[in-house]
Amino acid sequence: MHNLQMVDLKRQYLKIKTEIDAAVINVIESTAFINGPDVKHLADEMAAYLGVKHVIPCANGTDALQIALMALGLQPGDEVITPSFTYIATVEVVALLRLVPVFVDVDADTFTMNINSVKNAITPKTKAIIPVHLYGQCVNMEPLMALAKEHNIPLIEDNAQAIGGTYTFADGTIKKTGTMGTIGCTSFFPSKNLGGYGDGGAIFTNDDALAETLKMIANHGQKTKYYHEMVGCNSRLDTIQAAILRIKLRHLDEYCDARRAAADYYDNAFKNNPKIVTPFRAHYCTHVFHQYTLQLKNADRNKLQEQLAERKIPSMIYYPVPSHKQNMLKEYGTADLSLPVTDMLQDCVISLPIHTELTTEELAYITTNVLELIG
Ligand SMILES: *Cc1c(COP(=O)(O)O)cnc(C)c1O
Repeated sequence: MHNLQMVDLKRQYLKIKTEIDAAVINVIESTAFINGPDVKHLADEMAAYLGVKHVIPCANGTDALQIALMALGLQPGDEVITPSFTYIATVEVVALLRLVPVFVDVDADTFTMNINSVKNAITPKTKAIIPVHLYGQCVNMEPLMALAKEHNIPLIEDNAQAIGGTYTFADGTIKKTGTMGTIGCTSFFPSKNLGGYGDGGAIFTNDDALAETLKMIANHGQKTKYYHEMVGCNSRLDTIQAAILRIKLRHLDEYCDARRAAADYYDNAFKNNPKIVTPFRAHYCTHVFHQYTLQLKNADRNKLQEQLAERKIPSMIYYPVPSHKQNMLKEYGTADLSLPVTDMLQDCVISLPIHTELTTEELAYITTNVLELIG
């Protein structure tokens, strides 16, 4: 068996090597390392792909979230509603800006924020809500958008794991994930669905004024060089990354299809096992399977992981400690919050290899072994 990995970036690269190598060398030869033409082209091409007015590239997905919160003018002490069951970056930026994270539970089927919990968490101090499209599945945006509108609270979509996915509204309108909130954020971390060959991120919005502010914040608070209007940061996407991402963007839909095909294979193999709950696919969106995450019932997860590792099958727990229990946030005193679904999931989720290059032979090897070991 080929050396199995959670994500196989090497095989993906080899398929587009000629194009990628030429694009990288082109940037090096042009020496336009910072804000070269590829950065602007990527922004325009992504805006067209997503159907959103503005795409602002930045240094990474965490910065994207931070810049989004800064652009909304949030003040220390303002409350931001987020799920606890997410990658820490979503929450870290809230704490970094001295805002108050207000954690809500997720739904056990979709792994995404429970809309009723959001409703109950809203207070006069709530100044933003961050829905996270976890593992590649979109939050149920229509009721969330209605709720946010009713209370006049901006939504920041954390789209780091779901780029390329879509959401369908009740009237049939289809929108790309990351383009429905006031601001959308994504990450080009190499293992993400649209990954560069280093760090990168982007911010999306349809609001012209907000786009100006976001751009300014990402660029030392300046519109005109050396005239600084506000405190910002230095958050740029390298031209080399932009050149690579322009090529990979053209393959994104095909990459999403390949991930879905692998997920279909897994689903089919696991469907009759009472100890395995396969990922739920909500009718209102297309799942792009950033992760393929099972819930194990009455099975020893740690033992399974060890035994899989012995057979050279990698697996991961995303995430072993939910955000509200992280030491990072101990001053907020959130560790004892009651988030029963989050706590339950933390103990039973396991993610299997998923990427664009999995072969039927590899999928057969993984599923046969999982089924044999789980009994
Ligand atoms: C990866 C990720 C981020 C952060 O992106 P970086 O580019 O690594 O900074 C934020 N939120 C979620 C849900 C992520 O998966």
